[in-house]
Amino acid sequence: MPRPSRYAPDTLPRPRQWRDEAACSGVDTDTFFPPGTESVPPRVAAMYAKTFCVECPVRAKCLQHALTHREDYGVWGGLDEEERAGMLREARLAAERQARQERERASAATGT
Ligand code: SF4
Repeated sequence: MPRPSRYAPDTLPRPRQWRDEAACSGVDTDTFFPPGTESVPPRVAAMYAKTFCVECPVRAKCLQHALTHREDYGVWGGLDEEERAGMLREARLAAERQARQERERASAATGT
């Protein structure tokens, strides 16, 4: 006789999530994490995955998720890891530039 589970089965309805609207729903996950080969670099291999993203209705949410959760690999929101890393680098540099300008303004205002 099977032992009763300590947990109730997961049959409750759950709220819809952005992933439910994804254009890549049902597509093999490996498509979005192409390893590349000697003759096909990862960047080129990622182009096929990106074709799903072009018209994806949740592309912005997917990209936001990847940037927020620092997804380091694969195609998310139509961008590969190098492109997302570039976005994060640009955002960091812009934040540093803004902080430096604010310090300079504050310094000029106080004459220090
Ligand atoms: S943007 Fe691309 S990876 Fe993200 S959910 Fe849509 S199809 Fe999938």
